[in-house]
Amino acid sequence: MLRLREDIPLFPGGRKKAFTLSSDDGITQDGRLIALLRKYGLKGTFHLNSGLMGHRDWLIQPGINVSHYKYCCEDICKIYESFEIAVHTMTHPDLTRVPQAMVSYEIAQNKKHLEDIMHSPIRGMSYPFGTYNNTVIQTAKSCGIVYSRTVESTYRFGLPEDFLIWHPTCHYCDDRRTSLAREFLAPVSAEDYHSPLLFYVWGHAYELDAYKGWESLEDFFQLIGKNDEIWYAENIEIHSYMQAVSSLIYSSTGDYITNPSCMDVWMQIDRKVYCIRSGETVTVNWLHHNDDIQA
Ligand SMILES: [Zn+2]
Repeated sequence: MLRLREDIPLFPGGRKKAFTLSSDDGITQDGRLIALLRKYGLKGTFHLNSGLMGHRDWLIQPGINVSHYKYCCEDICKIYESFEIAVHTMTHPDLTRVPQAMVSYEIAQNKKHLEDIMHSPIRGMSYPFGTYNNTVIQTAKSCGIVYSRTVESTYRFGLPEDFLIWHPTCHYCDDRRTSLAREFLAPVSAEDYHSPLLFYVWGHAYELDAYKGWESLEDFFQLIGKNDEIWYAENIEIHSYMQAVSSLIYSSTGDYITNPSCMDVWMQIDRKVYCIRSGETVTVNWLHHNDDIQA
């Protein structure tokens, strides 16, 4: 019987599951959202528009009549402390409808501004209105963006094939989020584990005001939060970890694996968990695992 070896990445700590969230526009309702995230041990990313900071406007649409005030530049560090902040462009245009020179400016200037606030590189983004095309993706990439989130729900728990087209699982006000959470929380044995499971929710915190969604969001956070089997991460942490996984160096037979990255990496290889420490090499005697298997 031929049996193929399965090398499946695990998240930090050997976990099979990760949860992340992102919220757009840098609005003052983010403060309340952050308090809830902290309460339930959750992490996430906030996508901010530098050119609109301090603006005080209202969103008046059918079914929505809420403030859309943005935090001032001076508030950003304190409000978003210990959360990732990332690019959402300077002025929130539909990037597929503006010339490429403006796309570059909207992304690069926003990135530089946030870097000056945080004194560290910013590499994440979400597309305003969720719109993108190949030119937008290539421009973002050339500006140093490594991932960008869309607004298309997958209703699944996979990692993106391309981090520059990162489709979330669902909106955090989606009716299906609780049933998805229950599905996500179901135990997964080593045998049933075939790929890392990521639950990614996104939204705008003003929608929680508009649709009176705060209480039910808290119920959802309570359900999904503070669980040792889940890695709670910012968007960029997930990207960086998966980069470390892809940088693993394999010997020809797969018996030796070196981790050249600065992060420890966990893998499930033939149902056994391996931690490959940063800078170290492990030996995987996987053929010996199969001694009991009939040829
Ligand atoms: Zn937006």
